[in-house]
Amino acid sequence: MAQTIEADWVSRFADEVIAEAERRAPGKPVVCASGLSPSGPIHLGNLREVMTPHLVADEIRRRGHAVRHLISWDDYDRFRKVPAGVAGVDESWAEHIGRPLTSVPAPAGSPHPNWAEHFKAAMTEALAELGVEYDGISQTEQYTTGAYRDQVLHAMKHRADIDAILAQYRTKKAPPKKSQKPVDEAELEAAEGSGAAAEDDGAVSAAGYFPYKPYCGGCGKDTTNVTAYDDETTDLTYTCAGCGFSETVRLTDFHRGKLVWKVDWPMRWAYEGVIFEPSGVDHSSPGSSFQVGQQMVGIFDGERPIGPMYAFVGISGMAKMSSSRGGVPTPADALKIMEAPLLRWLYARRRPNQSFKIAFDQEIQRLYDEWDKLEAKVADGTALPADVAAHSRAARTATAELPRTPRPLSYRTLASVVDVTAGAEDQTLRILSELDPAHPITSLDEVRPRLDRAESWISTYVPADQRTLVRDEPDKELLGSLDEQDQESLRLLADGLDTHWSLEGLTTLVYGVPKFQAGLPADAKPTPELKVAQRTFFALLYRLLVSRDTGPRLPTLLLAVGADRVRRLLGR
Ligand SMILES: [Zn+2]
Repeated sequence: MAQTIEADWVSRFADEVIAEAERRAPGKPVVCASGLSPSGPIHLGNLREVMTPHLVADEIRRRGHAVRHLISWDDYDRFRKVPAGVAGVDESWAEHIGRPLTSVPAPAGSPHPNWAEHFKAAMTEALAELGVEYDGISQTEQYTTGAYRDQVLHAMKHRADIDAILAQYRTKKAPPKKSQKPVDEAELEAAEGSGAAAEDDGAVSAAGYFPYKPYCGGCGKDTTNVTAYDDETTDLTYTCAGCGFSETVRLTDFHRGKLVWKVDWPMRWAYEGVIFEPSGVDHSSPGSSFQVGQQMVGIFDGERPIGPMYAFVGISGMAKMSSSRGGVPTPADALKIMEAPLLRWLYARRRPNQSFKIAFDQEIQRLYDEWDKLEAKVADGTALPADVAAHSRAARTATAELPRTPRPLSYRTLASVVDVTAGAEDQTLRILSELDPAHPITSLDEVRPRLDRAESWISTYVPADQRTLVRDEPDKELLGSLDEQDQESLRLLADGLDTHWSLEGLTTLVYGVPKFQAGLPADAKPTPELKVAQRTFFALLYRLLVSRDTGPRLPTLLLAVGADRVRRLLGR
């Protein structure tokens, strides 16, 4: 059983949530909640909506309390627009705008029965890999089976009270529903299609205000207006502005419609007894659905959840992604280039009100270095308590350890190796086995899945002009132009290769050659002059090996190229 952790923001929220749950519903499971809209690819930015309650729920579970993390799939929302850049989708999907997301066909070629299921599936898979334990609730299922029948009738009965609350905000411009604001312009278009449903609080018609909207019995769309409602019989009449269809139904046994969002959300807080549910910082504004919900929830005899506002999560390095992918990074995309514990760690170590970026660019290498350093500190007991807490939340949940790479070689090194080998497995294994000859890697499985993540990063996100291409033939012109001293440096390096053939040995060698030439001992401290000489020497090696001034770290590059080819390219 994992231990309770008491040093971080997660723990402080857990204290607060447990105390509140004891006050409201002693002895019942503590309910934490998230909401996701499968209106398109679910943006990586929206993962905070899940990770924040996940981490808190997990801490509550570590303490031995019964807890439920609900993920509400808002799949009964209307299909608002056809998102750009989704494979298997064309403009003909516009025909379905106004229908529930579960009534829209899935993209062509999808094995899933409808639009919502298609996009839920990718997220569900990512959440499983991240170790997120939750109860998924389909709002389509809830509404169409009549689970909310009493709540719908109650809302209709109290429509004047609901209208009065909404009226306080109607003149103010409504912010987006519940998702994050897009992080940069490139993502704007895509993010709009992935959960940022515009506000809808129901229209006031000649017949009055109604917080409930039927989906049309003729065309299936929500272009309907309630024209009459009888509180006694619950007979409801609507007409469809789209197809002209009209009918009168009895609301006690009619289940093809939903409460408008600003009523729907607080109704569910009360229905499920939600104690903790965060929302994006856009909810700090007056008129946001969280603010309105605090007032609205009283109508359903409930209380607002503890709901921290979380700051936006940005993405770095996505600009290079082709527009054919729609430019929408999803959690699955992140998990292709980093292991689940690393992604969990990004959320665990920052308080919800701190924004941060998820790196798809070179920064990912630094991030991995930082993670490896933390692992080492945790192992030898020198990490600070808050860092230990974040590490533990990243590496395991209350019930399971996340899978890890048996021999976590530096991501930077792995990336350099697959960069040079272009993924050829025999070469990759040869190089990795030579990194540390005393403890050689004997199978690539020892360095998986980290190796696969590094390979995927190199091949997907590193632009062609930053990839490493080892020369086939020596650069005769450059070799012919070298002075005596440069030639000697190459000879010293070439002669030392065989006796220094390991990551550590080659590191000593490449730094040692300029020292030797300067008449300094091998353990000499670097002086400014020596540093210049080393940089000049390294630049020469890069030019001769990869025709550029920089590249992967030289010892890794030398190992990757192989001793014979190095000697040939150095003209030795
Ligand atoms: Zn219709």
